[in-house]
Amino acid sequence: MKKKDEECQSGKIRYNDHSQAVEALKRIKSKGEQRDKTPHRIYKCDGENGCNGWHLTSTDYPEMDMKLVFYKKFKKLLKNK
Ligand SMILES: [Zn+2]
Repeated sequence: MKKKDEECQSGKIRYNDHSQAVEALKRIKSKGEQRDKTPHRIYKCDGENGCNGWHLTSTDYPEMDMKLVFYKKFKKLLKNK
C-alpha cells in the first residue's frame, strides 16, 4: 500500500521530524562516502508544494534545489504533450 502523505513531490526521502533527518545524515556521513551529491544539510520542506517534512540536500540553496526539481518535472510534462 502506498502511503501518499509520506511522499514528497520533490522525490526526496522524507523524514517526519528534524531528529530523524539528523540521524540519517549522521549515517551517511559515517560511511565517509565522498560523492558530489553527498547530502550535508537538512531543511524543512514547507511552502506551496512542500510536504511539511524534512529532507537532506547536497546544496546550500534548498529552495533552488526544489525549483530545479519542479522545473525538470515541468519540462517532462511539456515533452509528453
Ligand atoms: Zn518535501
